[in-house]
Amino acid sequence: MSASSATAAPRYRPETRLVHGGTLRSQFGETSEAMFLTQGFVYDSAEQCEARFTGDEPGYIYGRYSNPTVSMFEARMASFEGAEAARATASGMAAVNAALMGQLRAGDHVIAAKALFGSCRYIVEELLPRFGVASTLVDGIDLDQWRDAVRPNTKAFFLETPTNPTLDVIDIAAVAEIAHAAGATLTVDNVFATPLFQSPLALGADCVVYSATKHIDGQGRCLGGIVLASHEFIQTHVHQFTRQTGPSMSPFNAWVLLKGLETLPLRVRRQTETATALSVMLAGHGKLKRLIYPGRPDHPQAATVRKQMRGGSTLLALEVDGGKAAAFRFLNALKLIRISNNLGDAKSLVTHPATTTHQRLTPEQRAELGIGDGLVRISAGLEHPDDVAEDVLNALKAV
Ligand SMILES: *Cc1c(COP(=O)(O)O)cnc(C)c1O
Repeated sequence: MSASSATAAPRYRPETRLVHGGTLRSQFGETSEAMFLTQGFVYDSAEQCEARFTGDEPGYIYGRYSNPTVSMFEARMASFEGAEAARATASGMAAVNAALMGQLRAGDHVIAAKALFGSCRYIVEELLPRFGVASTLVDGIDLDQWRDAVRPNTKAFFLETPTNPTLDVIDIAAVAEIAHAAGATLTVDNVFATPLFQSPLALGADCVVYSATKHIDGQGRCLGGIVLASHEFIQTHVHQFTRQTGPSMSPFNAWVLLKGLETLPLRVRRQTETATALSVMLAGHGKLKRLIYPGRPDHPQAATVRKQMRGGSTLLALEVDGGKAAAFRFLNALKLIRISNNLGDAKSLVTHPATTTHQRLTPEQRAELGIGDGLVRISAGLEHPDDVAEDVLNALKAV
């Protein structure tokens, strides 16, 4: 196996790194990345085996620790993100769990933004406290709330931006500064922005996590996740945690996700164009109470969007007039856009957060997050933008 020359060439632009970064070629010189479906590895001698275990000789030992196809995915992602190191995981939640559990121990305190993906909120609000890690949830937009929540034992800050499903945008650099002043780290869930449009590490975050299930696969096939950070962060907090507890990514999924990365910029740019077109078309529409899109000048945090994002979003949120009944009429009247809780897919998808992804929250908690019963989230796909637009306009007639 040899690393392709592009691996060690950061001078290439992101699109190029997404096609060539991390490629390891076997003795057969294959064009496409090989899929190494193997649990283990064999050694030429007992001495070599010993050297692998002591770490004196680099190389593979066991599938739970690492695998060549998974390594290619990690290296390609690290090169794209501008991270020194990465660990791929079986799902996005395994990545979030590894990043947080790996850093924290009983007696520590974590501060997180309230507007979190449901399972992330479960980890912070319910799981960590079971192990003696106290947590405080804040309104991520309000920097004073982050400052005021700091305690002497605060070790980690956690946020996602843009948030799900109301697409609020949190100032990563400002929160990183507060975290570092408190002696804590900042971990950012960058799923909604995608690595194409936002680079949390460059903005001061210490760790970035993804659900690769979303835009990185982008075609609805397999689950995956990844944690990206400095060598030191990964070695100190993530390496042993993932190695010993085993949330490993399957080599098959790593292969699918590697191929996904090759087309990520094409897909995400096209999906963003469609979402932007929808946001322009729907502005001021009589059936809507609210339209939220990070690319619009009337977005509540438009200045932060300009400061930290290189593009809008593949998602937009609408609040139809008439609550749940109206939202359901809209969803049921869509013919092309499919009802699903997923996002970032080639197929345009629509979600009613109040009855699905955010059902676990109380009505008060939802109200606090701006998730009304009429709120609908649309993930723009790769269909012709006019077909998507016509479907939305037609369905709004049913509201
Ligand atoms: C989907 C998602 C996750 C969880 O990812 P899985 O791959 O489903 O485990 C975490 N955070 C955000 C923002 C997500 O959208």
